[in-house]
Amino acid sequence: MADATVKVAEDGIAEPPRSALIFLGTGCSSAVPNLLCLIQPSDPPCHVCSQSLSLPPDQNPNYRCNTSLLIDYCSPEGKHKYILIDVGKTFWEQVLRWFTFYKIPQIDSIILTHEHADAVLGLDDIRTVQPFSPTNDIDPTPIYLTQDAMKSIAVKFPYLVQKNLKPGQEIRRVAQLDWKIIESDCTKPFVASGLEFVPLPVMHGEDYVCLGFLFGERYKVAYISDISRFPPTTESYISKDGGQQLDLLILDTLYKKGSHNTHFCFPQSLDAVKRICPKRALFIGMTHEFDHQRDNEFLEDWSKREGIPVQLAYDGLRLPVDL
Ligand SMILES: [Zn+2]
Ligand SMILES: [Zn+2]
Repeated sequence: MADATVKVAEDGIAEPPRSALIFLGTGCSSAVPNLLCLIQPSDPPCHVCSQSLSLPPDQNPNYRCNTSLLIDYCSPEGKHKYILIDVGKTFWEQVLRWFTFYKIPQIDSIILTHEHADAVLGLDDIRTVQPFSPTNDIDPTPIYLTQDAMKSIAVKFPYLVQKNLKPGQEIRRVAQLDWKIIESDCTKPFVASGLEFVPLPVMHGEDYVCLGFLFGERYKVAYISDISRFPPTTESYISKDGGQQLDLLILDTLYKKGSHNTHFCFPQSLDAVKRICPKRALFIGMTHEFDHQRDNEFLEDWSKREGIPVQLAYDGLRLPVDL
C-alpha cells in the first residue's frame, strides 16, 4: 500500500524535497485488532480483526496502532527535521515498521497531546532511537507538553523526569528528554524543530482538556486525535467561517454509531467536518467497527454529496505536503 520511492517528474528530474505527514498509527487506545475478537471469537468471527491473522500488517489497512503522527518537516534551507506527535503503547512497533520503511533516521522533537496511556506509554522506548551512551551523556530530545501532562508523567515515569542521581544510586541508561511546558491556548504558539504549532484545546470528556495542534504556513493542518467536544473558540479558530480554512483536518472518530463520553464517533466527526469545512479531512482513532474499504466507499459518496473529501486514514499513509 505504502510507496517509499522518490517521486520523479515526467521529465525525469526528481522533484524538490518536500515535507510529509506519516500516519504512524490510526487506531483507538486498545489498537486494532481487538484482542478479544481473536481469543474469544464470535460466530461468525469479526471480519476486521480476523484479517490480522491472515494478512501481513503492511497489506492490511485494518491493522491500527495507537494514534500518532510523524511530521517530516523540510525547512526552507532544505534540512529534514522529524517531529513526533504522541508516543503510545505501540511506539516500538511503529518505529520497526515505518521508520525503517520510510528511512527515518531520528526524532528531533516530540509533542504530546495529553498523558493517557495510548499517547505516552512508549516514552521509555525513546532511548532506543537516541544515540547510545551508557552515561546518558547525549543531547536530550525536546518534548512539548502541558503542565498537567507533566505532573502525570512525573508519576508514571519518575526516572525520565529526575534530574540528578540520589546519593549511592547507580547510573542506568534511560531516555534523555528536555521537558518544555506549553499552554492550552490558541494564542500561545510554540516552535518545535523550526515549525510553529498552535495548541488547540478540546474537551476529551467534560472533565479533561486535550490538545490538538494547528501547523503549516502554506498548507494548514489541524491534528485532533482525542475529542468529545469543541470549545467554541477552538472551533472558530480552525473554521472556514472563522477566516482560515484548513487544507487538512485530521480528526478523531471512535465508533460507527451513537456517541461516546470521551470521543467523537462517526456522526459527530462528520458533523464537525461540515461545520469546520476544511478542504480535506482524514479520520483517525478508529476501533474495529470500521472496515477500511467498506467505510471509505461510504465516505466517497458522502464526500461527493457534501463537497468535502473525507477518508479514513491508515497506518503507514504518507502524504507529501508543503508546510
Ligand atoms: Zn473485532
Ligand atoms: Zn485519551
